[in-house]
Amino acid sequence: MAITINQLSKKYINGNVQALKEINATIPDGIFGLLGENGSGKSTLLRMLATVAPVQSGNIHIEEYDIVKDTSKIRSILGYLPQKFDFFEKLTVYEMLEYVAILKKIDNREKAIMEIIDEINLKDKTHSKISKLSGGMKQRVAIAQALIGNPKYIILDEPTEGLDPNERLRFREVISKRRNISNIIISTHIISDIAVLCENVGIMKKGKMVYCGTIKKLLEQIEGKIYIDIIKSNENIDIKKYKNVISILRKKDTIEVRFISEEDVSYEYAQVNPTLEDAYFYLTNIQ
Ligand code: ADP
Ligand code: MG
Repeated sequence: MAITINQLSKKYINGNVQALKEINATIPDGIFGLLGENGSGKSTLLRMLATVAPVQSGNIHIEEYDIVKDTSKIRSILGYLPQKFDFFEKLTVYEMLEYVAILKKIDNREKAIMEIIDEINLKDKTHSKISKLSGGMKQRVAIAQALIGNPKYIILDEPTEGLDPNERLRFREVISKRRNISNIIISTHIISDIAVLCENVGIMKKGKMVYCGTIKKLLEQIEGKIYIDIIKSNENIDIKKYKNVISILRKKDTIEVRFISEEDVSYEYAQVNPTLEDAYFYLTNIQ
């Protein structure tokens, strides 16, 4: 069963910001990626889904449960990593997770804690104080507290922030293994973190959900519009001639310019298969 969001709006009186504008979306089971640049409303939406911010107008259902009426039921099936997670720095990793496990009324706490510590690869830090951990290690503990007890729904707000490239790979593995246990929503502005993991994505722009659906359908929308031009490194590039440049990649002896063209220019440039990055660029910069 899915999560359904209907006509959800949110205005912050403080600053007079319309953070969410009549959002309608269905989030199917599985791993869902929520993309959008900073300030597009991702955290606001996820805070409501996680029942930590009140709903102003519109509604959200997780399965048949209403986010306002069935708050405690929803909390019992949910794990949440806020974007800014506050630790009790004086606790050890074990104590921190024990605290969360008690709040969540998890059975067989010790087993659940040791399993999750193993999963995030922090066994040797089990009894270290949080204050002594590196930023990446802290983030792994923060992720662990959302996963502990195998909740049916997991909401992770920018979970890969502060992780180094190896930790990012490890994170993908951890999430991928949970595919059949939990439904997971991951917000990020780093597309490569979710491109491999997710079948479905939501893309937010200025408080609106500009796309919600499968990555496959999204890519079909821009099929035939992505081109590359390959230039020798010692030639001058005239960037202006490409209009919508997605990326410029320096290779050994060449420079590769990737761009979008609504017109067919395949007589001049090589047409390439679109990626999620291309689609994201198209929706957030062109449409
Ligand atoms: P994202 O997570 O995509 O970066 P946010 O949901 O944090 O976006 O923010 C959406 C908009 O709402 C931004 O313009 C932000 O400045 C504003 N905003 C977020 N939280 C608050 C708050 N507590 N009070 C006032 N404005 C806020
Ligand atoms: Mg955010």
